[in-house]
Amino acid sequence: MFNGWVKPVSNPPNPWLSTHVEYLDEEPPPLAALEIYEEEAKSILSENDSPDLGFRWSLNPYRGCFHSCAYCSWGGTAVTMADGSVRAIRDLRAGERILGTEDDRLVVTEVRAHWSTRKRAVRVRLSGGGELVTSADHRFLTDGGWKHVGDDLSTSDRLRGPNQDRRVTAIEPLGVDLPMYDITTGTGDFIANGVISHNCYARPSHQYLGWGAGTDFDRKIVVKTNAAALLREALMKKSWAGETIMFSGITDCYQPVEASYGITRACLEVCEEFANPVGVITKSKVIQRDVDLFGRLARKTRTSATLSIPFARDEMARKIEPFASPPSRRFETLKMLSDAGVRTGIAIAPVIPGLNDPDIPELLERAREVGATHAFMTLLRLPLEVRPVFQERIRETLTPERVRRIEHAVVELRGGGIGRSPDGSRKMNESRFFDRFVGQGERWKAIEALFDIHYRRLGFDDGDDAPQPTTFRRPKNQLDLF
Ligand code: SF4
Repeated sequence: MFNGWVKPVSNPPNPWLSTHVEYLDEEPPPLAALEIYEEEAKSILSENDSPDLGFRWSLNPYRGCFHSCAYCSWGGTAVTMADGSVRAIRDLRAGERILGTEDDRLVVTEVRAHWSTRKRAVRVRLSGGGELVTSADHRFLTDGGWKHVGDDLSTSDRLRGPNQDRRVTAIEPLGVDLPMYDITTGTGDFIANGVISHNCYARPSHQYLGWGAGTDFDRKIVVKTNAAALLREALMKKSWAGETIMFSGITDCYQPVEASYGITRACLEVCEEFANPVGVITKSKVIQRDVDLFGRLARKTRTSATLSIPFARDEMARKIEPFASPPSRRFETLKMLSDAGVRTGIAIAPVIPGLNDPDIPELLERAREVGATHAFMTLLRLPLEVRPVFQERIRETLTPERVRRIEHAVVELRGGGIGRSPDGSRKMNESRFFDRFVGQGERWKAIEALFDIHYRRLGFDDGDDAPQPTTFRRPKNQLDLF
């Protein structure tokens, strides 16, 4: 049983491993211990071109996140089905209808075979923040035709996708053999994670390290120890134009491990040296340690700090995001940053209908009282692996009536109907750009209206988004070294 503070080991089966540990009722699982792994990363800036993200460059100093929010999203390798829904590649079966291509057109085809294998792994990073871990003999459809990862694919290629092409930003051999899934289809290809491809896939993130997507994600934390050095190298490149860098984007850059490693601070100090604009989003009061640095950054360059605060009450936050700082401390943090001259804001993210939507007016009001000038909200997302983790957590911490209301409301806002999710249950997620962070129908319109009324009444102002002259400068003493 999850009691909010002590976590027993609990991971959904890892589709890339042939074994899975189950604990018996008489022998409950051990408590999940925090494990820290240090990594020399190969690159540190991720480029995003998703049309519904408000930033292009992001920096994540850590993999995994101790905060353990029930709704934390990470992607699985999702294959597009004939009806446009997506399904984890591990769950496909021969005979099922999916999308492939023929003569440059999307067509319905079928899965003819499905098996797993073990191959040398390569990570392909994509603009838009995505990454795919594939076999070295994997082929992708690019604007220059089919190309092999281990042969002719390069960072000048764009991968073709039915909705949007994605640029390859890095190709990194991982130096290990990993278990992978593969399918054969009627057209010889399929759509995986939004791009057209052949061959084997491993799941990015924690599962390709042989770990689980549950407690392993929030208790096995990988620290990119060379992040600041990589950032300095990236900023020294002639091609770098001084655009805003968003910390983090995937995990929380001020999760507790930052208090001892200081990787985020070191990266921010590099940004200060180059007067490079920054934005930070966090749920952690650890950022209080760096208020001095934020004050200096704000005097030199465009700097914003956004606290993600989806709950007004500390007790409710403890149930859903148990290891993040309580909301009261996050508001206190906002005040310290505002007082230091930093442009601050609140992210009501995620809105969980039936749970925290009534908190919206109070959250906006309290944020404004402590000096926040910008605010936004996003709807709960429950992609493949996240949904069972979220449902397990709310069932353990909330009353059955509350759980029923939330699940009903999420289905309603996703326009869900029977049979549209991979397991035949009602649809609770949307993965399409523009739609994934917002809902549908009258109930969502009412939530938006509630937000808008109070946003305007309280005088929030996003006017600072106008283009501004760059402050970015390469330091002279560094130029001498190159
Ligand atoms: S703080 Fe963000 S990254 Fe960390 S667990 Fe929560 S949602 Fe995930």
